[in-house]
Amino acid sequence: MDNLTKKRLIDFLKLKNIEFYRDFSLKEFTTYKTGGKGEVVIFPNSVEQFKKSFVFCKRQKIPFYVLGGGANVIVNDNGVEGVVCITKNLNKVYYKSGKIFAQCGVSLENLSCFSYTKGVSGFEFAYNIPGTVGGALIMNAGNNYGEFRNITCFVKCMDKNGKEFVFPKNMCQFGYRTSIFKEKGFVILEAVFSATARKKKREILSLMEKIKKERESKFPLEYPNAGSVFKRPKGYYAGKLIEEAGCGGLKVGEAMVSEKHKGFIVNLGNATSQEIKDLIALVQKRVYDRFGVKLEREQIFFPEDFM
Ligand SMILES: Cc1cc2nc3c(=O)[nH]c(=O)nc-3n(C[C@H](O)[C@H](O)[C@H](O)COP(=O)(O)OP(=O)(O)OC[C@H]3O[C@@H](n4cnc5c(N)ncnc54)[C@H](O)[C@@H]3O)c2cc1C
Repeated sequence: MDNLTKKRLIDFLKLKNIEFYRDFSLKEFTTYKTGGKGEVVIFPNSVEQFKKSFVFCKRQKIPFYVLGGGANVIVNDNGVEGVVCITKNLNKVYYKSGKIFAQCGVSLENLSCFSYTKGVSGFEFAYNIPGTVGGALIMNAGNNYGEFRNITCFVKCMDKNGKEFVFPKNMCQFGYRTSIFKEKGFVILEAVFSATARKKKREILSLMEKIKKERESKFPLEYPNAGSVFKRPKGYYAGKLIEEAGCGGLKVGEAMVSEKHKGFIVNLGNATSQEIKDLIALVQKRVYDRFGVKLEREQIFFPEDFM
């Protein structure tokens, strides 16, 4: 961003009382614990601030990127030019008339715990998925126990021009780790979830705990990671292909294919995002050479995937 544009941006952020930092390390805002600095990083405290900053940046042609929990991204080591908007303060969630309303920065753990306190079932699957409502709707996050498609009623979003829409579930085009929001680069502001499936609280809690235990025993949570690196290829399991291609324990620098769950890459300590990317390419090549299967990446190169 040139100096004049940056000055205009900073003046705007000050005027609107939006929390911001310059040259701010993004590492701690990703679960991989890698990546460079954001040129200007903002933390809106209200959806209004989020919308205003987005529209301002669009008008000024300043690149604008959204980061939720950073649980599915690989942030470029050279940093991110423009504005990175971290949604963690947009964390309001409430219940009304058989629906749960959540802002985009609500963590999935909080969403799931909140539904439990209301005796609402259907959110148990999300309890142990790191990240936020925004990131989960973009990816239609899910596991064997459910996915966001099942619980979503409406999503309030903005298109690339800052025009606001409310999408009912049938317009969200949820698919396997995708949605219309991902395809079109929409920004998610808030969502409304169905809260009509009622169950005894102890049944809900016991399912949440069962899922958590299962996942903790399978996943290499002792190291920073961002979950499954690849989508499940049709007719195969990514982890199995990776294992059979001899990639378990394969390393580039301090990035390693987990021995415990071959679909994960872990940061052994001081890995860089570039090492993770190189390891991804190496695994893709080995699996392709051995089985002729192209492993498609689930994790997002931030910001390259949006350019
Ligand atoms: C240990 C572990 C286990 C995991 N298990 C699962 C699992 O079982 N199932 C699963 O699906 N995923 C899993 N994941 C991946 C991750 O948790 C999910 O993809 C989650 O939905 C990411 O949410 P986030 O808020 O962290 O998104 P981020 O990583 O912050 O962002 C992901 C993408 O969403 C975009 N985004 C975020 N918020 C918004 C918004 N408000 N508007 C527009 N775009 C936005 C970002 O720009 C980026 O493109 C796992 C990750 C870890 C670390």
